[in-house]
Amino acid sequence: MDYKKFGNTYIIRMDREEEIIQTLKIFCTEHNIRLGWVSGIGAIKSATLGLFRTSTKKYAANEFAGEYEISSLTGNISEMDGKPYLHIHATISDIEQKTFGGHLTSAVVSAVAEIVIGVIEGNADRTFDENTGLNILNLR
Ligand code: FE
Repeated sequence: MDYKKFGNTYIIRMDREEEIIQTLKIFCTEHNIRLGWVSGIGAIKSATLGLFRTSTKKYAANEFAGEYEISSLTGNISEMDGKPYLHIHATISDIEQKTFGGHLTSAVVSAVAEIVIGVIEGNADRTFDENTGLNILNLR
């Protein structure tokens, strides 16, 4: 991977075999990014996409392997227990332009991915919420 910073914005290029979520987490730690937004596109060879089921309060995930475009990756960066917390969703498309989408927990780059991080000055953390079963943002 390589990156360049312009003001509060990082432009990141991830390369073959890099796992996007883990690479982003390490990047946020190394650059002390505590709050921000993420946007991206790219070519991947695998992905895990999930749905948080409100009925069971658990994620149901599916794994995809093969040639896919990330037609859209979007999400945010916050913190939980002092560590970077990424909440990322993605839509991926196959050779017939059929798309699959959801909560992204893993994706491995097949050629290249281009990710933009916009840093927001400040911080916001998360705590587990019994009501929803989710780690929700604390905004007070
Ligand atoms: Fe989600």
